[in-house]
Amino acid sequence: MSCRNVTILGSTGSIGCSTLEVIALHPKRFKVYALTAYSRTNEMVEQCQRFLPAYAVMADVNQAEDLESRLKALNLATQVLSGNQGLVKVASDADVDSVVAAIVGAAGLESTLAAVTHGKTVLLANKESLVMAGGLFMNAVADSGATLLPIDSEHNAIFQCLPQSRENSLVDGKGMRKILLTASGGPFRKWTREQMAEATVEQACAHPNWDMGRKISVDSATMMNKGLELIEACWLFDIPASKIEIVVHPQSIVHSMVEYLDGSVIAQMGNPDMRIPIAYGLAWPERMDSGVASLDLINSDPLDFEQPDYVRFPCLRLAIEAADTGGTAMAVLNAANEIAVEAFLSGLIKFTDISVLIEQALSEVSIIEPTGLDVVKSADADARAVAGNILKTWNKGR
Ligand code: NAD
Ligand code: MG
Repeated sequence: MSCRNVTILGSTGSIGCSTLEVIALHPKRFKVYALTAYSRTNEMVEQCQRFLPAYAVMADVNQAEDLESRLKALNLATQVLSGNQGLVKVASDADVDSVVAAIVGAAGLESTLAAVTHGKTVLLANKESLVMAGGLFMNAVADSGATLLPIDSEHNAIFQCLPQSRENSLVDGKGMRKILLTASGGPFRKWTREQMAEATVEQACAHPNWDMGRKISVDSATMMNKGLELIEACWLFDIPASKIEIVVHPQSIVHSMVEYLDGSVIAQMGNPDMRIPIAYGLAWPERMDSGVASLDLINSDPLDFEQPDYVRFPCLRLAIEAADTGGTAMAVLNAANEIAVEAFLSGLIKFTDISVLIEQALSEVSIIEPTGLDVVKSADADARAVAGNILKTWNKGR
């Protein structure tokens, strides 16, 4: 078995660290080629000492010098790069086989797209890049022959439930009736809007089943995460939103399902632990140990399934509307959401203001055809500016 060179974009995050845990179980199978982080130099130094990558990239240019001198003092040969340029280089270098795209938000778009354009095996966690630029992204996959393996748990489940010989062909060609996209419902599944209005950052980030970064934790609490995932599934599996049914499943044991024309429903199950889809993506098309314990169905809670509530969770409705509108609406939705979540995390707005801000931004930014990456980027920038202005007027009026 040949050893694969792996770049991990966002190695200090929740997905990045889980990826390194899986790789550590298989030192003969994988070599860490590059690690990247935004600003957490301490974590990066530790990761470099342990995994000895050829490159370490600090996206925040100011942190690169500090990292360089600390690695030198440790006599490590790891080369330090910085900024978006550094990210793009380690995502596309000829020596790289697999790229784990685990940067959070729009900041991951360019490096993830670079990996795709260079025909890498891309393990996609950074759903925001697909939400923003799905059409361009999937065209780039087709043009370069890149292997795109979703590691978002639901999409990984769907991928596993599809016929393996024709992963990326048209849905109709597979005899598929619909996708059942499961959602945990997040920490506020049973809360009223009034209770949510008073939710603290700590409560929003305390997900019942998954331990994740703060942005996706808040997205799970608003259920925008499921909306982004619905858009992600449309692009990945070339299926219209109307053929995706969101099913709330609080135990997060069934990670999603595919229903076929004959009524068969195929589900993928497992403990809620991201090391499972990550190990699947790293070993694909083989299988290997992820370090996760066996699923104990006898002693686990009964599995429940419920309808989503679009009134208490307006972000779900906004995402579906953006998918229906098409064009740059999804990039605008994503950017406004990033601004709103950041504002909530910084204590500037209430939890229930998140959807209000996104809806207002969507009504103010004009939607056009995303003919190129520059169009997507300017829609992203417009939406951020508009959302920022709305925040300012709210601040004055409150
Ligand atoms: P996280 O916040 O824990 O980690 C984010 C990583 O991105 C860090 O390494 C950080 O240094 C880096 N980063 C942040 N801002 C950056 C910037 N401006 N430029 C370059 N790098 C930057 O996030 P996470 O929970 O690991 O999520 C990462 C991605 O994976 C997100 O897109 C998320 O939606 C997706 N995802 C996460 C989970 C999960 O369980 N955590 C599950 C499914 C999908
Ligand atoms: Mg998910």
